[in-house]
Amino acid sequence: MTDPAPSPDPESSVLQLRGLEKSYATETAVRDLSLSVGDGEILALLGPSGCGKTTTLRLIGGLERPDSGTVALDGQTLADGTVDTFVPPQDRGIGLVFQNFALFPHMTAAENVAFGLADRSEAERERRVDELLELVGLSDHADHYPDELSGGQKQRIALARSLAPEPEVLLLDEPLSNLDIRLRVSMREEIRDIIQETGVTAVWVTHDQEEAMSVADRIGVMHDGHLQQIGTPESIFARPASRFVASFLGQAGFLSARVEGDTLVTDIGPIDVDRLTDFDAAEGATVDVLVRPDDLRATPTNDEEADGRIVRRQYQGPAFVYRVETAGGDTVHCLHNHTERFEVGEAVDVEFIADHPLSWYPGA
Ligand code: ATP
Repeated sequence: MTDPAPSPDPESSVLQLRGLEKSYATETAVRDLSLSVGDGEILALLGPSGCGKTTTLRLIGGLERPDSGTVALDGQTLADGTVDTFVPPQDRGIGLVFQNFALFPHMTAAENVAFGLADRSEAERERRVDELLELVGLSDHADHYPDELSGGQKQRIALARSLAPEPEVLLLDEPLSNLDIRLRVSMREEIRDIIQETGVTAVWVTHDQEEAMSVADRIGVMHDGHLQQIGTPESIFARPASRFVASFLGQAGFLSARVEGDTLVTDIGPIDVDRLTDFDAAEGATVDVLVRPDDLRATPTNDEEADGRIVRRQYQGPAFVYRVETAGGDTVHCLHNHTERFEVGEAVDVEFIADHPLSWYPGA
């Protein structure tokens, strides 16, 4: 499979982070973090609460100083952990969008957008504000105050304000988390379109894997201050580098398996080792095979022939996801059409229907 968005060449990338480290009193927030972001690329930093995403963003924006490591923009070092090298936030050519919108309540939408344009002539400022309001589809709200705008409109004005001075890099910190769930889905597409139209390079922090997968050209998954994996959404989803990444992206189940010749023996039947990516486990070893809901199907059967039992039924509207516990104690999920309604407690035969290479991990 060719990678549609390969890692940018660090030499030609816009933003470069090298060996970044940041600790607070007793807490190491970011550990040895290196990555590059290409021109016009949208990189999502994804991970659970407390993994160091926001700290990474603040280090890029200059709101924090690294203990060591470097932040560079177009090859110019902005911070390197020494007192002497530190370009302040306002001189970095970087725009910021926060989850709480951070609009000035006493200024109209147009005045908010004009905020970072003080050094331009009045005519140029007006032209740029009109251009940005049109870009975010709010030309007819120019004279509205923030408390007269909906959440989505506030975030669009905040985006316009950050883009107005034509930053080279735009940083977005959970930009959708203050919006209701339905609005989040439409807004993420809208924000992505606007970012792409301006061509700005963006780093977008989120804890929502669906959001990251739908907006990003590449995703960096963080855990406990470390960058665990970086790649296109498709490549990370298809080949998660660790059990943590696999569990964080989608509903992961792990089938424990024993290697017997060319076969893996599992609770739901044998799997040919050729089906596994880069398989090199030794004869007799125990491994865990990653299986997602669409890889498996459950069929009700009698107790003697069953592989396991349904322990939970999750109704999702168009689909049911059944959680099945196998006889050996593995937990897997099976995706079914909404017409295939089974009962919790039913004994089921679990069939393996995946036709893609499978990821695996050494047994826990
Ligand atoms: P969230 O999604 O909850 O914002 P995050 O992934 O963005 O989480 P960070 O905010 O970067 O994580 O925090 C990383 C770690 O550093 C956490 O353990 C946090 O408690 C700690 N931390 C962050 N900022 C500070 C601070 N100013 N003082 C002390 N500890 C901090």
